[in-house]
Amino acid sequence: MVKEQNLQGKKILIVEDESHIAEGVAFNLKKEGFEVKIAVNGVEALDFWKNYKPDLLILDLMLPLLDGFGVLEQIRKVNQKIPILILSARNQAADKLRGFKEGVDDYLTKPFELDEFLARVQRLLLRSSWNKGEDGEVEDNLGDSYRFGPHVINFKEHLAVTPTKTFQLTEQEIKLLKLFFMNPQKALSREDLLNAGWGYTGQMETRTVDNFIVRLRKYFEEDNKKPRYFKSVRGKGYMFYP
Ligand code: CA
Repeated sequence: MVKEQNLQGKKILIVEDESHIAEGVAFNLKKEGFEVKIAVNGVEALDFWKNYKPDLLILDLMLPLLDGFGVLEQIRKVNQKIPILILSARNQAADKLRGFKEGVDDYLTKPFELDEFLARVQRLLLRSSWNKGEDGEVEDNLGDSYRFGPHVINFKEHLAVTPTKTFQLTEQEIKLLKLFFMNPQKALSREDLLNAGWGYTGQMETRTVDNFIVRLRKYFEEDNKKPRYFKSVRGKGYMFYP
């Protein structure tokens, strides 16, 4: 049983392709009162992360289809908060350093002590429940609204206020704008944008993204041939300049 009552029933996603490890970890977490789901490759991990909405991720590094660093990168682009613990046989300092740089909260090498593992899981969950407050579902640090140039985006009301008009934005437009706002002056690939706005698909039309950018520029650029805020980066994708 989990000692801290408020951790009962927290959802943990285990991303692990070796079934005996995954099942061992799952068994022990369930015994502690957690809810558990297992993803056996990186693509499934992203799918479950979106649909199962776990409170914590246990992430292996060497995985089929998309490795642990790839999973980490995709998640951290849109969610800085969910605690991620890497559980890997890779024990080199370079891997750990890369993990921490890319936003993991903890790193444990295999083989590991069960008690230590469980203590770390509890610590991560407790810390994130304090950060969230009572029932907050915060996924970004943007707050209720964001201002760039003369424009204000209100996330709660899905509103854009520009010097010439005020209008409603779609759920998807909000998601993609948030991705840009959270990654200023970073090139985002069409795939990143597809992933954030339309879910992880891999082979969707990148044209979808280009059409979306055309729309954004119409909304927010004074001269949409010479964009100031949403610029194209040749060979890479798009970049937001606040
Ligand atoms: Ca593995």
